[in-house]
Amino acid sequence: MTPQEITKTVDVVVIGGGGAGLVSAISAAEQGSSVIVLEKAPFLGGNLTVFGGIYNAPDKEKQSKMEMSEAVKKTIETAINTEPANEVHAAAIAAVKADYEAWKANGSVGLFDSASWFALQTWNSGDKVANKELVDIMCNNAYDGFTWLENIGVEFNDKLTQGAGSLYQRTHGAVKPSGSGFINAYVETLKKYGDKVTIMMETPADTLIMEGKKVVGVKATDKFGNKYTVNANNGVILATGGFAGNVELRQEYCEGEKWKDLSDKVLTTNLKAITGDGIIMAREIGVNLVDMDQIQLLHLGNAFTGSTKGVIPYKGRNSDEVIFVNSNGDRFVAEDGRRDVMCNAILEQEGGFYWMIHDSKNIDPKSAEAENFIKGGYLYRAESLEELAGLIGVPKENLVASVNEYNKYVETGVDDLTGRKLLVATIDEGPFFAAKRVPSAHHTMGGVEIDSETHVIYKDGSIVEGLYAAGEVTGGIHGGNRVGGNAVDDTVVFGRIAGYNAANKK
Ligand SMILES: Cc1cc2nc3c(=O)[nH]c(=O)nc-3n(C[C@H](O)[C@H](O)[C@H](O)COP(=O)(O)OP(=O)(O)OC[C@H]3O[C@@H](n4cnc5c(N)ncnc54)[C@H](O)[C@@H]3O)c2cc1C
Repeated sequence: MTPQEITKTVDVVVIGGGGAGLVSAISAAEQGSSVIVLEKAPFLGGNLTVFGGIYNAPDKEKQSKMEMSEAVKKTIETAINTEPANEVHAAAIAAVKADYEAWKANGSVGLFDSASWFALQTWNSGDKVANKELVDIMCNNAYDGFTWLENIGVEFNDKLTQGAGSLYQRTHGAVKPSGSGFINAYVETLKKYGDKVTIMMETPADTLIMEGKKVVGVKATDKFGNKYTVNANNGVILATGGFAGNVELRQEYCEGEKWKDLSDKVLTTNLKAITGDGIIMAREIGVNLVDMDQIQLLHLGNAFTGSTKGVIPYKGRNSDEVIFVNSNGDRFVAEDGRRDVMCNAILEQEGGFYWMIHDSKNIDPKSAEAENFIKGGYLYRAESLEELAGLIGVPKENLVASVNEYNKYVETGVDDLTGRKLLVATIDEGPFFAAKRVPSAHHTMGGVEIDSETHVIYKDGSIVEGLYAAGEVTGGIHGGNRVGGNAVDDTVVFGRIAGYNAANKK
């Protein structure tokens, strides 16, 4: 069939059917808008299809039943008694102090938490680079976002944890694997709006349609070559995700002092479709890009694919019970450290990889999953550490010494070698396991500048009328380090704002 030129007109056009796009679409539809979602891939969900299922939000009720250790008290007190770096920091500290004092004065029990503490930790962890106003919006609305998710049918475990890469025991873990619980709930919710919401699969957007300085629609092409002009009466929402999968953009913006080589030698945990398309479209019309040099590598990539899939058959959700050794069998970094610190340390090791060492408390040796990983050549299993060392080609005496020393640190509670603090389980129950892993491009913290209402901002500081953005396509929210479990907060909180505002031309 000859490709057609097709024109459609709706109230709101959403570019990207990942988490941020689907939440924006729901939010716009809730306002009575007609919506078209343009999706490049043949499936919905974007990185939700591979995500770890963790969402951070303070939760007073659950936290009131938890314990607050002396170490946690010390962490809070250190953070609020630090000399402020600037006025923003001083205000952030004052807000936490007020909440903490009020919490103590009320005779509260359990684990202290508040939106202000969540925000201070998030901002500090991102090296105070992020726009604190946006951090506050995310943290103030994270719990509301969580209850909204529950109301539309996303199921979470009852118990709060401190998820991998997160900073505090405020992590809600999804019951269903990866993002399937989220994607199903989003799609089912959108179905309620019938033909007011249209999802166009395999139809990547490529150009924003302008009327002067205002965005009034989007051009897209489907897999048959049909060309669409999709006019937006009320607004266009950019939700195309980050650029971890775009080597050119990575090298253009992020290579430098922190990451010396981001060429295709560095694989990615992201889906193939996540190539910064929205950032490129926005750049073409003169949008301001912020924090573009901030990229996060994750230390958990499969050494062959870069993905986090195909390498984590362990029982828990995080890596509290494992150690990392290099090709010499030596530990070289605190395994509970910041992601960028761990990744840089790994990249300095010979070959730029490490072996994650598990025991049978951590991986069920009889599980079919472990068996499959072993058959696939991703995982090695041996009855003794000596045998394991032989399988992975590291000096036996070094691997044995590394494990024995680590076990001593668990007993004494002090790791003299790396300063690791999470010392909860020894590695002493065979069979033992090893998986080869590498740092992999995971999250791009930079992107289009937005204000607190998700309006996209031109280089001259003015608002781009008609254009909104949410999710990983935006910059300014995570700063120098995206905290584990905070990215989906970002998509939910800002996606809801973007959908509402676009629908109402606000
Ligand atoms: C392996 C992994 C595990 C993670 N685990 C967690 C976790 O446990 N907790 C957490 O908070 N965060 C986690 N994250 C981060 C989080 O999943 C993402 O930041 C978040 O899902 C991004 O959502 P998004 O909608 O902004 O973008 P994406 O999920 O990247 O979605 C963008 C969508 O836009 C589409 N698209 C792209 N270009 C175009 C175009 N030109 N036209 C139309 N459509 C287009 C894409 O196909 C995609 O569907 C994880 C990320 C990865 C990779």
